[in-house]
Amino acid sequence: MRLRQKYRMRTPSTGREVVVEAAPGVDYVDRETGEDLEVVAQLLPLAPTASELPWAVENLRFCNWCDQLTQKDLNDCPHCGRRMDPLGS
Ligand SMILES: [Zn+2]
Repeated sequence: MRLRQKYRMRTPSTGREVVVEAAPGVDYVDRETGEDLEVVAQLLPLAPTASELPWAVENLRFCNWCDQLTQKDLNDCPHCGRRMDPLGS
């Protein structure tokens, strides 16, 4: 289970972007320029999550119980909490 939220962060002067698993109350700076990184976006799925897969069509399936989209690397549906059928069955 991943508890920390992942963010896409950008260095203002160079536009370089990195993905950071950020902890609350910590300032993140660019290793080369020393600038404060600005947050560009939060990555889905939001923490806490049992899935490491990005929220993208190729990583999603429909729960066979509630028909909601869930990540393929999960056994239990995050919407209804039930155990989903194995993939490919
Ligand atoms: Zn479900």
